[in-house]
Amino acid sequence: MERGIRLAITGGIGSGKSVVSRMLDIMGVPVYDCDSRAKMMMVGNSYVVEELKRMFGEECYNDDGSLNRQYIASRIFTDKENIRRMNALIHPLVKDDFKRWADGQLSPLVAVETAVLYESGMIDAVDKVLVVWAGKETAIERSMARGKMTRRQVENRMENQMAADELLLLSDYSLCNDNGCPLLPQLIPLLEELKNISNFELTD
Ligand code: ADP
Repeated sequence: MERGIRLAITGGIGSGKSVVSRMLDIMGVPVYDCDSRAKMMMVGNSYVVEELKRMFGEECYNDDGSLNRQYIASRIFTDKENIRRMNALIHPLVKDDFKRWADGQLSPLVAVETAVLYESGMIDAVDKVLVVWAGKETAIERSMARGKMTRRQVENRMENQMAADELLLLSDYSLCNDNGCPLLPQLIPLLEELKNISNFELTD
């Protein structure tokens, strides 16, 4: 494949996607983070800013122009129609941004971290899918330990995401990140395999 391999890193909230993304990054794989790129667009892209205000009100932004995350979360994660409207705005823009970013990378293997691979349409922009998995209780406890979400909020988010078993069925690769499943011994052979299909060289 001339343009190299595009790997999606997906999984539910608290599964360990960000940890795996950081590990891949350290091993030399450029990783695009949909969440942070989407958040950047929500303050830096004037079209997105105006659309969000139109859909959900001026309260989306604080007086200094920063995003009122708490307000947006309260409107989005409790209302399926609001999630749909938000996603319809952001997801196509993030997908295009990822493709432009990936086109500009020299590495034969790049990755994209997203919790909503299928729902966002990002699946059309990748070649392989890696699912990171942790048991529900582990994922809830780890998400709560970050200190920003209650159990109910984590469970709400989970209900709006695809179930782990469904994701696993659709994936090319999976990593177990439950308690007692060390990641590195799983990640190294996976990278070797990806290396074989993409000419990727592991960082020493
Ligand atoms: P996601 O990006 O899928 O929501 P994260 O990678 O942010 O999940 O992991 C959720 C939380 O759990 C983070 O605080 C992270 O540091 C922690 N965590 C992830 N994997 C492990 C692990 N194997 N052991 C202990 N803590 C972990």
